[in-house]
Amino acid sequence: MKAIYLKLSDCSGCMMNFLGVLSLEDVELVYCPNLMDEREMKEADVGFLSGAVCLQFEEHIEMLKKLRELCDVVVAAGSCACVGGITRFCRGKQDPQPEHHTFLPVSDFIGVDYAIPGCPVSSEILKKFINAYNKNMDTYLIPFRNLVKKKRASGEDLQDEIVAKGLCVGCGMCALSCPVEAIEMMDRRPEVRMDKCIRCGTCYFSCPRNFVNLRKVDAEVI
Ligand code: SF4
Ligand code: SF4
Repeated sequence: MKAIYLKLSDCSGCMMNFLGVLSLEDVELVYCPNLMDEREMKEADVGFLSGAVCLQFEEHIEMLKKLRELCDVVVAAGSCACVGGITRFCRGKQDPQPEHHTFLPVSDFIGVDYAIPGCPVSSEILKKFINAYNKNMDTYLIPFRNLVKKKRASGEDLQDEIVAKGLCVGCGMCALSCPVEAIEMMDRRPEVRMDKCIRCGTCYFSCPRNFVNLRKVDAEVI
């Protein structure tokens, strides 16, 4: 697989985890301005993107359009690229780019084929995705394709789609993952304070009772 990796607005955690996939023999990175000297974006099978798109940074939009033209498949990697993630907290005035204050998911600008959330995105899930993609194991790719439709996620989604449906096992992962401590565990169930929630989607995508059946992927892809 020839791959491009583009980092938009994020904390670099997803890029650090993306480094893990470079150990796979069948991945050849052909363009990544953060990791290599190559200046021209090249054609690739898959373009991975992390980070949200900054509306005040026109270069982002140009990079996205070019990536979409050059790649057969585009993957939003990490919660910022998928739903905005922690960038939803941003109100501008921060160093070193105080003028940047509005961030949106990648799929608001270009067609995205697969979304792999996580804060940061997991190296292991990326590897499993790549293995499944290379082996044309479509069954395992369906959840990632469906996730593209989920452009926004909040503590309410966690309550409605996990807790209210009786899927919660009380592990506390959602509370641990919330960057603004909006979730408290009460009697082994999460209570979300929506007045604190910044709608980053991290709790929803961190929940092990969500829609990606990781154990099945573990057993049959690797
Ligand atoms: S409850 Fe916390 S982790 Fe969940 S969407 Fe809101 S801010 Fe994000
Ligand atoms: S992460 Fe999911 S299963 Fe775990 S406590 Fe939160 S809602 Fe329940």
